[in-house]
Amino acid sequence: MHPRDWIEVRPQGVYCKAGDFYIDPMAPVNRAVVTHGHADHARAGHGHVWATEATLAIMRARYGETHYLMTENPMAYGETLEIGGVKVSLHPAGHILGSAQARLEHAGASIVFSGDYKRRADPTCVPFEPVPCDVFVTEATFALPVFRHPPLEDEIARLLTSIEQFPERCHLVGVYALGKCQRIICALRAAGYGETIHLHGAMQKLCELYESFGIGLGLLELVTPENARRLAGKIVLCPPSALQDRWSRKLPDVLTAAASGWMRIRARARQKGVELPLVVSDHADWDELTRTLVDVGAPEVWVTHGRDDALVYYAQQHGFKAQALHLLGYEDDSE
Ligand SMILES: [Zn+2]
Ligand SMILES: [Zn+2]
Repeated sequence: MHPRDWIEVRPQGVYCKAGDFYIDPMAPVNRAVVTHGHADHARAGHGHVWATEATLAIMRARYGETHYLMTENPMAYGETLEIGGVKVSLHPAGHILGSAQARLEHAGASIVFSGDYKRRADPTCVPFEPVPCDVFVTEATFALPVFRHPPLEDEIARLLTSIEQFPERCHLVGVYALGKCQRIICALRAAGYGETIHLHGAMQKLCELYESFGIGLGLLELVTPENARRLAGKIVLCPPSALQDRWSRKLPDVLTAAASGWMRIRARARQKGVELPLVVSDHADWDELTRTLVDVGAPEVWVTHGRDDALVYYAQQHGFKAQALHLLGYEDDSE
């Protein structure tokens, strides 16, 4: 039976009728399969939750031990179980720690919800695996040919060069607290940067969680009223929302940077007052999206949140059956 006959889009999100569960529901539901820990995919208050161990740990860190009402069910990558008679398995998505694609199989047909994903190397998570299926569901956050993310090493080199050039300025980098923060730290370490990296309080818990999963981040220290004045020439990571707020005013001669796929758009960087835009994304760029359609090889593609029309058009031009799956409520907050 074709997935269109047992999958439907409801106000709460994508619903599997055959198994009576949702994928990344936006409102509390009885049964939820969660692809990863970003707030627009992982919400508190579901009855039963299925996700990877790392995603469940992230949900506990964000929402407390009782983020679920009945049970939480950790799934290893590649493990298959049945929910309401539908076979469900999770596979690496390469997006953030614990991120997964969800594969559903029912009545002789299969569908893969890839969630958010990328194809670049990232030491903080398991790389994306193409999973054969009849219908592949993909996001489209950066699905325009203008979005081509440069190599991460190049962007990190630009940050380190700026620190050399402006040793009197505190380099304040806006990064999303879950995923981007830890990936940037790892990339700085890989580039040989051994100094203590200072953190806004909002990053602390998730950095500790990554370390508890074996991802070493090196010397980290919270910004405090005592050490803030001494951070000239240092790197401070904060949530994008803290770049311009009162919190940053105690830092000496701040140089504002931000790491996001949207930094490709200069007007956006200027509008946000970002002096040093770093184009770094945990989402696939245009080349990664189109390559993934080929690598997965599913004859049919459904495109979710983002620039769906461009990717649907591309897929149709290249011999796939393709349509937009209009999902509201997923934000770009992970960027
Ligand atoms: Zn995400
Ligand atoms: Zn998302």
